[in-house]
Amino acid sequence: MKVLFAAPARDWDEWHRALIAAAPEMDLAREGDPASFDALIYAPGYPEDGSTLDFTPFTKARVVQSLWAGVERIVTNPTLTQPLCRMVDPGLARGMSEYCTGWVMRAHLGMDHYTQDGIWRHAIVPPLASARRVTILGMGELGRALAQCLRGLGFCVTGWSASGRPVEGITVLDAPALGQALAGADILVSLLPDTPATRGLLNAETLAMLPEGAWLINAGRGTVLVEEDLLAALDAGRVGHAVLDVFTAEPLPAGHPFWSHPRVTVTPHISAATRPETAAPVAAENLRRAMSGAPLLHLVDRSRGY
Ligand code: NAP
Repeated sequence: MKVLFAAPARDWDEWHRALIAAAPEMDLAREGDPASFDALIYAPGYPEDGSTLDFTPFTKARVVQSLWAGVERIVTNPTLTQPLCRMVDPGLARGMSEYCTGWVMRAHLGMDHYTQDGIWRHAIVPPLASARRVTILGMGELGRALAQCLRGLGFCVTGWSASGRPVEGITVLDAPALGQALAGADILVSLLPDTPATRGLLNAETLAMLPEGAWLINAGRGTVLVEEDLLAALDAGRVGHAVLDVFTAEPLPAGHPFWSHPRVTVTPHISAATRPETAAPVAAENLRRAMSGAPLLHLVDRSRGY
């Protein structure tokens, strides 16, 4: 099978190695006659001149496999008629669980109280995890993995998703129960995708539903959060601290107030990178399925945008 690597050139070396190891039969190329490719492997940042990729000439392509879990930059491309699959891989889920659990533990243990300033704050004792309520917005591949990880540590975990689809051992609320999900969040983690329905979901009105001093961890997409409303909620004390990995504009501009806010922690969209060693076998499996006409894995629902 002939596959176009439609991803930034800097990614070529490590992905080429991993993809060929996972599918030695793959003829992976960075350029060529579009009509000759059986499939595309796509990542944001391609084409590198900033133009929008035109899928029309890829007449033979049976699938476009995204290397990213979030597909908001490609799903609305009107020239894309080929099936689009997003990345679901164990390394992504593990990475996101580790990232979010780390910050949940910082919030839970109140680590920020114990600064090295000579003051013996022995009155501040964190409760056990069972007394700490964590709400996860978005109970997809990543939200479910995090929920199980936090549950294993004893946290009182509630999930929230559009459908409220059940997850073993976790209470999952559906869309109309957003207020309940927020009101019960000492720590709120957002792992929602960027879609027309999620944009601006965390705004002045919804942030006001959180308990006083709640922590917010946003590792899904920046557009879910109205940034000015978060700043106001932080200043009002409604939100105690925000850990943000994703932003409306990335990289976060140098003068952005988040950089200097004492109760904001910025990380540069690193919470869950797609790691070639775990993701290449997933991509290879899907390409093989496309070639043999077998059902594709992790097909994006274009109407929902994720
Ligand atoms: P997923 O499996 O598609 O799950 C998405 C979840 O969000 C589902 O539970 C879905 O509900 C829910 N959802 C979508 N729209 C909703 C709405 N309007 N209201 C309520 N719930 C809604 O996605 P995933 O693999 O878990 O990944 C989630 C997102 O994480 C990705 O889209 C990506 O943007 C982001 N991400 C970030 C990083 C990073 O490094 N920061 C890395 C990887 C991924 P249903 O279950 O009812 O469908």
